[in-house]
Amino acid sequence: MAGSPGSSGLVLVLNSGSSSVKYALVDPDSGERPLSGQAENIGAAGGSYHDALTRILGHLDDKGHVDLAGAGHRVVHGGERFSDSILVDDEVLDAIRSFSRLAPLHNPANLAGIEAVAQARPGLPQVAVFDTAFHQTMPPAAYRYAVPGEWYTRHAVRRYGFHGTSYRFVSERAATLLGHPPAGHPSAGHPSAGHPPAGHPSAALRLVVAHLGNGCSAAAISGGRSVDTTMGLTPMEGLVMGTRSGDVDPGLLGYLAEQTGRGAADLTDVLDTRSGLLGLSGTSNDMRTISEAAERGDERAGLALDVFVHRLAKAVAGLTASLGGLDALVFTAGIGENSVLVRSRVLARLGFLGLAEDPAANAAHGQTSGGRISLPGPVQALVVPTDEELMIARDTARLVSAER
Ligand code: ADP
Repeated sequence: MAGSPGSSGLVLVLNSGSSSVKYALVDPDSGERPLSGQAENIGAAGGSYHDALTRILGHLDDKGHVDLAGAGHRVVHGGERFSDSILVDDEVLDAIRSFSRLAPLHNPANLAGIEAVAQARPGLPQVAVFDTAFHQTMPPAAYRYAVPGEWYTRHAVRRYGFHGTSYRFVSERAATLLGHPPAGHPSAGHPSAGHPPAGHPSAALRLVVAHLGNGCSAAAISGGRSVDTTMGLTPMEGLVMGTRSGDVDPGLLGYLAEQTGRGAADLTDVLDTRSGLLGLSGTSNDMRTISEAAERGDERAGLALDVFVHRLAKAVAGLTASLGGLDALVFTAGIGENSVLVRSRVLARLGFLGLAEDPAANAAHGQTSGGRISLPGPVQALVVPTDEELMIARDTARLVSAER
């Protein structure tokens, strides 16, 4: 029934970052959010996670009796240990702590959020939902770097990939919109001998999803499983982002260290926080500002947009090779859901794959065409809004009710 919590109770979804905690009370059945907000100035910026969580739980109490099924936390790095979300216990906490070396800005904050809830509401079931988990299905050919083997065995140097919760949500939704279940239609009648022809609704669905927010990545998803993605050991690899460079020649670090006398940590920080759209344009990390400036003729903004589109188109084609073909390209997150210009320019570059923009549908962000923004053809393009909070709430409800 609309407006009333479903049978599973409500889930408190928390994204504890290095300086803020985003929170939402989510009905995992209807997706409704009776409460949401953000607590600022936490961690390095001053306040404690415990005080923030006490305040957030206080807002909940102000709403009267809330039937809380559990708390679901976004956790950035799950290493090779976690390929699914999991109920938090001491062993899981230790594992998350051990992956802090791989995500020094994020995992400690995520842990602090879990520990603060455990203190404020002892006994409330908590679930960790990892950004990396969805990509654990990648084959070694996709996740290993061509570096000495000991770097992998001793230092866990490999590609992990991120944005997994978003990919899971968006790829399921895209399969529904396309009427093509991830693993293919068992009943769609294909020749009984051999595999169904690729692209046929009875075959596994092959998607490239481009998650374009402040952080940008793209993933190749076959039959509902990630087979490749653009981010790697850290969320700096791959596409051009708001402030991150994405791929650069690894030789650049040694060269610049010599030229400038700056250390690796210092230069890495520039690649992380002062590169990407911001570095190229010299003015902004925000795609709206960049697009407006480019349209007014600002050359540096124009270049930032050109590099962004070039790298994205190239990545989509590369991921298509990882899939052995493409059924649909899906755009999501802030830029993917809102930028008619970026989508149009990327599709124009990918005509050779069989993609063709439907300009009217694209201008309406696919909202009047079931997500579709392409003309009829062998490959579809879709816009699918992501909802990581809802995915976290659903995972939490699923794991909590399985435990009961
Ligand atoms: P986050 O990764 O922090 O969740 P979002 O998914 O909200 O970020 O994406 C932020 C990006 O989306 C910014 O670059 C912003 O400029 C871009 N964006 C939002 N709305 C639009 C729009 N209408 N046109 C172009 N870009 C947009």
